[in-house]
Amino acid sequence: MNPVLEIRGLTKHFNAVVAVEDVSFQLGQGELLALIGPNGAGKSTCFNMLMGQLKATAGEVLLAGESITGLKPRQVWRKGVGRTFQITATYASMTVVENVQMALLSHHNEVFSFFRYATRRYRSEALELLDMVNMADQADRHCAVLAYGDLKRMELAIALAHDPKVLLMDEPTAGMAPKERVALMQLTADIVRDKGVSVLFTEHDMDVVFAHSHRIMVLNRGRLIAEGDADYIRNNPTVQEVYLGGGTVFGSEETAHA
Ligand code: ADP
Ligand code: MG
Repeated sequence: MNPVLEIRGLTKHFNAVVAVEDVSFQLGQGELLALIGPNGAGKSTCFNMLMGQLKATAGEVLLAGESITGLKPRQVWRKGVGRTFQITATYASMTVVENVQMALLSHHNEVFSFFRYATRRYRSEALELLDMVNMADQADRHCAVLAYGDLKRMELAIALAHDPKVLLMDEPTAGMAPKERVALMQLTADIVRDKGVSVLFTEHDMDVVFAHSHRIMVLNRGRLIAEGDADYIRNNPTVQEVYLGGGTVFGSEETAHA
């Protein structure tokens, strides 16, 4: 495997709370890798460290062999680590294609000239990206009227506008209906295959995880406890114990945590 992202001994303590402890893994070129685990396992904390939003207590993050440890979110993003947001950050008053054009302008450092060029700059590139996420037919609609699932697909197009090497998706399908979840992950899988982007994602719908990931890692109480393909994870006694023992059944999100 040719690692795009390499994580070594990543650790985060919040005072006495051990949120993430000595997590090491690699993300391969063109890989769709799932990070799963019960509520409070440390998944979002991992993501936030990878994005530069949280400073790690210890550990190292390498992108294509170069350390990006301790860089600020914008620097990490500039290096080619894209992300989709749990809360969609878009401009409701603009059209779908304008939002993607805005992202392309920002990617090319032209953000301040946007209003002058709004209708022309990068329009064809933006339409191409929208086509990739099956949103070309909605290009000229205003974002304010989009259905949630469509907004999510636009968000994916925006993330792709930055031509990321790695895409981090923390619960990309949160708030979506089961059918929409499957569709969004299928789309992501297609993009991974066609563009060779590498994706690390979390998801609590196990059907989605098992159907679409190339590899799955399980986090529990801040530690990686298992790693393998869908069959291996599904049948792993330790993993079953973590989910069943914790009161969570694969595919539901009912666990309360203090
Ligand atoms: P997950 O995303 O897997 O549900 P999180 O990464 O959000 O888990 O949380 C992991 C643990 O770290 C939890 O015990 C959570 O309460 C704790 N935690 C997360 N963020 C903070 C914070 N800012 N301050 C203190 N504790 C935190
Ligand atoms: Mg989380």
